[in-house]
Amino acid sequence: MLEAATSFQRHFGAVPTQMARAPGRVELLGNHTDYNQGLVMALAVDKYVFMAGAPRSDDKVELVSTAFPRPARFRLDAIKKDETAPWANYLKGLLLQLRERGLALRGFNATIHSTIPLGAGLSSSAALLVATALLVRKLFPYSLAPDGHASAMPRLETGEIPALGAAERMAFAKMCQAAENRFVGVNCGLLDHISSLFGQANQVILIDCQNLGVEWTPLAADLAVVVCHSGVRHALVGGEYNDRRANCEAAAATLDAPALRAVALDALAAGRAKLTPHQHKCALHVVGEIDRVQRGATMLRGGDLAGFGRLLFESHASSRENFHNSCPELDILVDLARQQPACLGARLTGGGFGGATLNLVRRGAAEDFRTRIAEGYQQATGRALESWICQVVNGAA
Ligand code: ADP
Ligand code: MG
Repeated sequence: MLEAATSFQRHFGAVPTQMARAPGRVELLGNHTDYNQGLVMALAVDKYVFMAGAPRSDDKVELVSTAFPRPARFRLDAIKKDETAPWANYLKGLLLQLRERGLALRGFNATIHSTIPLGAGLSSSAALLVATALLVRKLFPYSLAPDGHASAMPRLETGEIPALGAAERMAFAKMCQAAENRFVGVNCGLLDHISSLFGQANQVILIDCQNLGVEWTPLAADLAVVVCHSGVRHALVGGEYNDRRANCEAAAATLDAPALRAVALDALAAGRAKLTPHQHKCALHVVGEIDRVQRGATMLRGGDLAGFGRLLFESHASSRENFHNSCPELDILVDLARQQPACLGARLTGGGFGGATLNLVRRGAAEDFRTRIAEGYQQATGRALESWICQVVNGAA
């Protein structure tokens, strides 16, 4: 938080009046299931987008990010994409959402400082959107109705604003997703935004993307969550992600299902001849993942951690063989993890095509695990490995 405030003071020569932060997330199990109305397990982790801001007296917005050299400046009545600061599109998209939903916007200055690596699969983009939505809410209090309508809201007598309830948190997640879908142009699902908003310390978030139900179940205290960043940067804006999504949707339509959530593994096998090979493999991955999340939830609740870990390895194999969203570096990381007895399971996490792996490791052995994987990765690829032991934390505030 401190860096965002310091950066604000340095850049704007004043003290910020409001701060917000939103955590990144790790997808524990349930790959590419969210936009298929499926099931997914996620963790909010102790890597954050921090923002500091203060209102302005005019209708301009000035944004500074410690991750990018140039600030972004624009007028609220002339929001458009600017190729010299594409990162600002996330914030612009969010402001446009607020306006479309009925809120009169006002000018402000803000700085962003993030400890979430960009493009590593920990969803820095969703955290940026969630932090923006909360910072604007603190600067100019508003509430979101369940239908998404935004209206200005008075502060409490203490000057505070009311805490967000669960229903309103979900409306925030949808608004952030809409900004990413419609303005930035990434057809992402709701997983990232929900995770950043609904995280709870030491709990796994179970999300049903069909009815948007959220539940929590404890993560065994004996387990450490280790994230290993391949250093291969994924490029979600565009290409592969949208291709996989289109193929999943086409497969569901051909099978007369509203979404792949409604297709069981045996129905998929029976309908295989109607699908192109690529559609079939995409669907097989997603339907398999939904099944694994279902079985995994039972295992976690019953304390079968070894069984749960095996599902993570199976998930990765399906990414590699069916969905083709792995890459050689991620495969190497998972193979190295499998050789460590303290590792219960490992898989790529997030969109794929680069980014990071998630590893569940016996807590006492986590540091040693990091060292060994780094050595093996260096030998196999010549790349230095960045890895983190992540704490599972509360959602955005
Ligand atoms: P991921 O969400 O997996 O980290 P994405 O490609 O979806 O990867 O989002 C990364 C993009 O989000 C960056 O290219 C940038 O535009 C924006 N972003 C992330 N972190 C910051 C930051 N600290 N400052 C400004 N923009 C950021
Ligand atoms: Mg993203």
